[in-house]
Amino acid sequence: MTSYDAVIVGAGHNGLVTAAYLARAGLRVLVLERRHIVGGACVTEELWPGYKISTAAYLCGLLQAPIIHDLELKRFGYEILPKDPAFFSPFPDGRALFVWQDNARTAVEISRFSPKDARRYPEYEAFLERLAEFVEPWLLRSPPDPVRRRAGDVLGLARMGWQAMRLPASDFVRAFRMATQSARDFLDGWFESPELKASLATDGVIGARGGPSTPGTAYVLFHHCMGQAAGKRGLWGFVRGGMGMITQALAEAARRHSAQIRTDAEVAQILVRDGAAAGVVLAGGEEITSRVVISNADPKHTLLDLVPSLDGDFRREIETIHTEGVAMKINLALDGLPEFRAAPGRGEGPQHRATIHIGPTMEYIDRAWDDAKAGRPSTEPFLEVTIPSTYDSTLAPPGKHVMNIFVQYAPYRLAAGSWDTLKETYADRVIDTLSEYAPDFPRRILHRHILSPVDLEREFGLTGGDIFHGGMTLDRLFFMRPAPGWADYRTPVRALYLCGSGTHPGGGVMGAPGHNAAREVLNDWRHARPRVSR
Ligand SMILES: Cc1cc2nc3c(=O)[nH]c(=O)nc-3n(C[C@H](O)[C@H](O)[C@H](O)COP(=O)(O)OP(=O)(O)OC[C@H]3O[C@@H](n4cnc5c(N)ncnc54)[C@H](O)[C@@H]3O)c2cc1C
Repeated sequence: MTSYDAVIVGAGHNGLVTAAYLARAGLRVLVLERRHIVGGACVTEELWPGYKISTAAYLCGLLQAPIIHDLELKRFGYEILPKDPAFFSPFPDGRALFVWQDNARTAVEISRFSPKDARRYPEYEAFLERLAEFVEPWLLRSPPDPVRRRAGDVLGLARMGWQAMRLPASDFVRAFRMATQSARDFLDGWFESPELKASLATDGVIGARGGPSTPGTAYVLFHHCMGQAAGKRGLWGFVRGGMGMITQALAEAARRHSAQIRTDAEVAQILVRDGAAAGVVLAGGEEITSRVVISNADPKHTLLDLVPSLDGDFRREIETIHTEGVAMKINLALDGLPEFRAAPGRGEGPQHRATIHIGPTMEYIDRAWDDAKAGRPSTEPFLEVTIPSTYDSTLAPPGKHVMNIFVQYAPYRLAAGSWDTLKETYADRVIDTLSEYAPDFPRRILHRHILSPVDLEREFGLTGGDIFHGGMTLDRLFFMRPAPGWADYRTPVRALYLCGSGTHPGGGVMGAPGHNAAREVLNDWRHARPRVSR
């Protein structure tokens, strides 16, 4: 039987970040991934010959700069292609709004909808920037925990309070409100144009169980405005070669430090001996022992499926994490670019290089969510569409393109029928929706690949199809993620840690949970206490 210092369950980007940091510190590390490739929801797959698709995640913005630097990801092939324009929102009346990286250029666009909003926009951006500057340092720290109240927690909270006091008072009030506000209330406080508000509200609902009017979506909006991976805060980009190049680079960084990675290796059980994790058992029965086990799988799968007989209050906390996803992904190969009524022209234009939002008003997006609440896929879905091949010609054969459509709302639990029978007809509905804005679009489609929320669970191991490993609402953020008192990546099982998106600071291709978990494991390791209970 082989024995390791650390076994990591899952080779999502966070598991690979943890693996690379631990291996770099000299631990003997083994990563076990159930799929045939590493990367989890951050992968590139050649779904049809010559077409490379970012099957799940498609844009990068949150990946933390220190991780890119420490693990030398650029040396291992990671390259970001900043996206400009940021958004293109076509409207049913034939008008369109572009949001550019250059605020002055955006202001000109916005002034066609509201001169007053055009004047406010730079102030809005500056506020988000100041707030991100305040929050970002906390992404790579374990949250101070008022539930546990150790000396370090008290000091951390005091430090945070002190930093918050240095924000202008008006920012503090806005930020405090934003933690629980709806995206609608937040945006109503800034702007008057329904078109601008709908365009900006989209960041508040991506992956969220709610519409723009649902409390908590203002925070999700802000979450998507952090990160400087593309060189400027809030700027998102494509990754050359697709999102899988991030995880390929991470895997290479881990291997360079002698970590071992096994694919097609599903963990069936985490071994617990004398109250401490002692290794894992694979689906085929193979037993692997280790001094610590770190799980990149979501908290529910890890703690309810893989750990035997966990009970008590902690179990109830984990059971009640919301993990019913609302998103569906459609990946397409195209034989040319669609022509939008709001931006005519067959040739490649800025409309094709932006994130294309189909969700013309906040009321439209709220209605789409209302359907999902009743267990129905939205009759008029909200879509976020990207065409990464306009930046990266390696993704498709000459003259062809690849397109990602992120669809909301597709509720995991349907009131009637099953996703296996419904998904093809619902994909037709999505394509019809986009073709209302680009009538030639259906004729451009060569191949299609559809991932319902149930497919996201089956393919990527995301419980309930939840793209963030659990809701990103205040009741499950910061010291409450994944459960009050357990935000430091440890669990009630000694020597068992969590390192995935279900931990602070949450979902998205950020790497922060993996980074922070590695630091905590190493803290315990250096104090020779991976098996010591607190
Ligand atoms: C459709 C979709 C679109 C998205 N779009 C974006 C986007 O554009 N930008 C962005 O930043 N974020 C996006 N996200 C969110 C982001 O991809 C995820 O939050 C992030 O990738 C999760 O990373 P992770 O490493 O925490 O977990 P995961 O990527 O979920 O990795 C967990 C890994 O553990 C493995 N695993 C689970 N159980 C076991 C087991 N028992 N044994 C062995 N292995 C196991 C899984 O197979 C998986 O590889 C999207 C997600 C989805 C699903």
